Amino acid sequence: MKTIHSARSMARELARLRKKGATVGFVPTMGFLHEGHLSLIRRARKDTDIVVVSIFVNPVQFGPREDYRRYPRDMRHDKRMCLREKVDYILYPGLKQMYPEGYSTYVEVQGLTSNLCGKFRPGHFRGVATIVMKLLNIVRPDKVYVGQKDAQQAIVIKRLAADLDTGARVVIVPTVREKDGLAMSSRNTYLSAAERGLAPTIYRALQEARLLIKSGNKDAHRIISKIRGQIINTVDGIDYISIVDTKDLVDIKRIEGEVLVAVAVWFGKTRLIDNIIVRP
Ligand code: AMP
Repeated sequence: MKTIHSARSMARELARLRKKGATVGFVPTMGFLHEGHLSLIRRARKDTDIVVVSIFVNPVQFGPREDYRRYPRDMRHDKRMCLREKVDYILYPGLKQMYPEGYSTYVEVQGLTSNLCGKFRPGHFRGVATIVMKLLNIVRPDKVYVGQKDAQQAIVIKRLAADLDTGARVVIVPTVREKDGLAMSSRNTYLSAAERGLAPTIYRALQEARLLIKSGNKDAHRIISKIRGQIINTVDGIDYISIVDTKDLVDIKRIEGEVLVAVAVWFGKTRLIDNIIVRP
C-alpha cells in the first residue's frame, strides 16, 4: 500500500496501471474510517483490480459555523484500516494541493441540491461536487463507491458523474449500522454518553415509518407527523423529516412509488442524518 500526496503522482501511477488493463475502484472519504467506510472499500476490493481510498477533509463543503476544525482525524488508524483491507493507494492530499492559491473553479449540481440537506447547509453540495469532480479527474476510476447513509450526496454524485462525462460508474452501498441501529458516522464520536443512548430512536422511528408505508399508508404528511412524534422528545432540534421521490428528491404528498424517508436532527451541537428507501 502506498500513500500518495500529490495529484500528479497519483494520476501518473494509475495511468501506468490502467495501460496494463487494470480496473480502478475509488472510495472518497474524509477519513476517521469506520465499518461504513470499510464496507465501501470491501465492495471495491471485490469489484476492481486497484483500490484507491482518498482521505481529505474538504473545507469547501463546511459552512462557516460548521465543524471543519473539530472534524475528527486519525491518519494512523486510517492507514492501519486500509492496510488490513488491502487497499492499494491512499490519496492523502494537503489543503494547498487541492486548493492552491488563486483557486477559483466550483461545480454546482442544480435541482437535486435544493431540498433536504441542501436547504439547511447552503454551499455544502457545491463543495462536495467540486472536490468529487477534482478527485474523479485525478483518479479516473471505473467505479466510485458511495454510501446510502448520505443519500442526497450519493444521488448528487451520480448525477455529476453522468453529466460531466466522467465515465465512472457510481455504486451506492447500503448503510452500515451499530448493533442498536444508529447509522455509523465519524460524527458519532461527538455524542455524549447520554446523547449516544438516545440516538438510536432515529432509526427506530424510520423503521416504524417503513411499516406504516408497507401496510398501505400513503399520506406522507401523516407519516412525517408520526416520526416527529417519536423523536421530538429525544432530539434537541430537527432540520427536516422528509419523504421525497428517490429520483428528483422533491417532497411528495401521496406515496405511490419508491420513496426516500430522510431525517436530519441535532443532539446538542451534533447534527446527524439518516434515511431509508421504501417501496410500498
Ligand atoms: P465521509 O468520510 O463521512 O465523507 O464518508 C465517505 C463515504 O462513506 C461516503 O460515501 C459516505 O456515504 C460513506 N459512509 C459513511 N458512513 C457510512 C455508513 N454508516 N454506511 C455506509 N456508508 C457510509
